[in-house]
Amino acid sequence: MNHSLYVHIPFCKHRCHYCDFITTAGRESELPLYADALVKEIRIANQYTEKIPLHSIYFGGGTPSLMALKDYEKVLEAIRQSYALTEECEISLEANPGTIQADYLKGLHALGFNRISIGVQSTDSFDLARLDRVHSIRDVLTSVSGARRAGFRNINLDLIFGLPWQDLESWRNSLQRAIDLQPEHFSLYSLIIEEGTALYRWHQRGLIEPQDQDLQADMYELAMELLAEAGYQHYEISNWAKENDGVDLRCRHNLQYWLNDPYIGVGAGAQGYFEHLRLVNTPGLTDYITRMQGAGGADWTPTNTPATISSEFVDPETRMMDEMMLGLRLIRQGVGAKNFHRRYNASMEAVFEAELNRLVGLGLLEWVGEGESKRIRLTHRGTMVGNQVFMAFV
Ligand code: SF4
Repeated sequence: MNHSLYVHIPFCKHRCHYCDFITTAGRESELPLYADALVKEIRIANQYTEKIPLHSIYFGGGTPSLMALKDYEKVLEAIRQSYALTEECEISLEANPGTIQADYLKGLHALGFNRISIGVQSTDSFDLARLDRVHSIRDVLTSVSGARRAGFRNINLDLIFGLPWQDLESWRNSLQRAIDLQPEHFSLYSLIIEEGTALYRWHQRGLIEPQDQDLQADMYELAMELLAEAGYQHYEISNWAKENDGVDLRCRHNLQYWLNDPYIGVGAGAQGYFEHLRLVNTPGLTDYITRMQGAGGADWTPTNTPATISSEFVDPETRMMDEMMLGLRLIRQGVGAKNFHRRYNASMEAVFEAELNRLVGLGLLEWVGEGESKRIRLTHRGTMVGNQVFMAFV
């Protein structure tokens, strides 16, 4: 089975007002040390006599585009030497507008990156200022055109909706301007005001209120409409891919998560799911670097690196629940009954009989296809309340 590799780059120029991700601000000078630590953790995979096959590699953050090309060269070399990359391996980088200049983009492409995910968040300057993003609309335009000129044929744009001050019209305009840039892929997220963020403190002080749920639902429906009109296939709750002459432009790396397939995570705060173990690395940047610098001996494996702080076996019952919760996110595809049986030697209809009957009865799930292709998937109504559906399988 093909695997995926996630590499976490927890560095940012500063902390945005809504962000609770595992990242640091103002510590970019430590990036070369961090890259060396990553190389050490990646090389641990060499312990296996047969190399682990990879069909996707994803550098997420943080702001991975803050890392220098020479550091990426080292990290990618370690990956290529330690894993068996498929010929068409998807290699993605998350990038923030304003951090990716033309030469940098060309350098990334020359190193083998073939997908770039740009954290646009909004094309409205008022939104960007309120979210405390460091980039401007001009940066968005130059990033996308620069990526095209560098040779990227698979560009994703991340956008956020449901901002406390946003109305339907401003969301329509923000999304439409992004559509006009003609990326191959969109990831759209509704804003959640997370504890510990500046937005949360404003909310506590009564300065902002979370967006009205009905308006958020209207924004989501509007996005579905606009993106369908523009030729994008809505393939996952929050993700759309262009339908391009039969070329599959869905994010292969994220599909690995939704299909409940194995992935290895390296870096501070990275998580993995490998050999039926849920693995978590230390989130502390200094701790991560120190642990990797002190790593000696040859006893480490990808399921137990010096950075691992938690390793939990996922039993078959939990795996089956995960399969449903994750797989149902795939709107058209859903979860295949035959595939489920092949994986767990159990019938989905029998294991989740009560849940499936109830959700089908409520019009939130539907059975489609027959025989090999029989599968359960969300209805339109179910898509609108996806989280409630997924929680039924916990
Ligand atoms: S750039 Fe992204 S990861 Fe960094 S602080 Fe802003 S939202 Fe968080």
